[in-house]
Amino acid sequence: MAGVSQEQVTEALARIVDPASGNNVVNSGLVTDVTVKDGNVLVVLEVDPARGEEMEPLRKACEDAVDDVPGVLSVTAVLTAHSASQQPQGTQAPPPPQGGMGGGMGGSAHGGPQAGQQPGADAEKPGIPGVGAIIAVASGKGGVGKSTTSVNLALSLAALGKKVGLLDADIYGPSIPRMMGITGRPVSEDGKTLDPMRNFGIVCMSMGFLVPDDTPMIWRGPMVMSALEQLMRDVNWGELDVLVVDLPPGTGDAQLTMAQRVPLAGAVIVSTPQDIALLDARKGLNMFHKVNVPVLGIIENMSYFLCPSCGERSEIFGHGGARETAAKLGCDFLGEIPLHMAIRETSDLGQPIVVSQPGSDHAQAYRAVAERVAGKLDEVMADTAAKAPRIVVQ
Ligand code: ADP
Repeated sequence: MAGVSQEQVTEALARIVDPASGNNVVNSGLVTDVTVKDGNVLVVLEVDPARGEEMEPLRKACEDAVDDVPGVLSVTAVLTAHSASQQPQGTQAPPPPQGGMGGGMGGSAHGGPQAGQQPGADAEKPGIPGVGAIIAVASGKGGVGKSTTSVNLALSLAALGKKVGLLDADIYGPSIPRMMGITGRPVSEDGKTLDPMRNFGIVCMSMGFLVPDDTPMIWRGPMVMSALEQLMRDVNWGELDVLVVDLPPGTGDAQLTMAQRVPLAGAVIVSTPQDIALLDARKGLNMFHKVNVPVLGIIENMSYFLCPSCGERSEIFGHGGARETAAKLGCDFLGEIPLHMAIRETSDLGQPIVVSQPGSDHAQAYRAVAERVAGKLDEVMADTAAKAPRIVVQ
């Protein structure tokens, strides 16, 4: 398929009239940015914040117009305001416009018949058709091994017989493609939804597949949710038991917004012994409590050091803090993962340890965590099913 040009996109946008000015969105200066990359289009509409809500239909019309341009694989139109551009990048998205920011490619109907039963899904946060449950992996800060844990957890859940997807929601620094050893770009069979990438028996989606490595990604607040909604909803996930979402590090406003907008069945918090001492884990817990997402538990990563030559176990950072913190905070402790060179090497080489060294103690540690996560998830699902309205046929 021939590539889409910026001119074609602008031409399509010029057919959309802003009812307030009577002029088209291009000539009236509403369109401030159009980015086209490999058929994926991002349109930025800069609007008066006071008109935010009434602009939603116009935003949608712009998406639909661009979606009709031959060769367009995906389109996201986002509303920004002058005040929003003053914020540092990646800060809080504005309050969600009524009806949601979803849409995107083709504006397909989201939420299948079973969506109401999906834990975490509701009218505001419709579920993803075919996906049984979505769990988020979060951490108080970067560098604690959250992505490494997400990958090994997803693969361990698959080893337990579950159909698993992995969504890299860290749009600032996507590391899942490298850790999963996946290169190349996703394709779209129908021109509307992308097929996820696949390796080691699980399906995977990341902004890293769509944007070249060397492209600096500058996201303004509202773009973050649009991009995430697309990565989540405009993908042919197929039938999945569980979708593991690797959240960006930290528990700031951007993460809170995501936790609020993704229909999460539960969350898992990854902590190191040090950041447990610094109470970062508690921040994570509070964040999910605020948005009523059940915390499935805490995983202690880099928990102890196993000497590769003598096998001696050293607890350099003081160990067991996560177990105590979990007990104190009334949430479950899901297990501990040692600090080990093999985990770092395999993760950075794109050969996660649970698939490259499945017989190792480390792989066993991840599988034990996955079993506990699966158990907790079953509890949440049973709880949701019990609360679901029953239809009695007489
Ligand atoms: P985050 O997602 O929290 O930023 P990463 O998963 O990218 O962290 O991990 C940061 C670095 O630490 C990576 O190089 C990774 O391979 C390494 N790492 C993660 N967990 C472990 C572990 N248990 N033992 C050794 N290295 C680890």
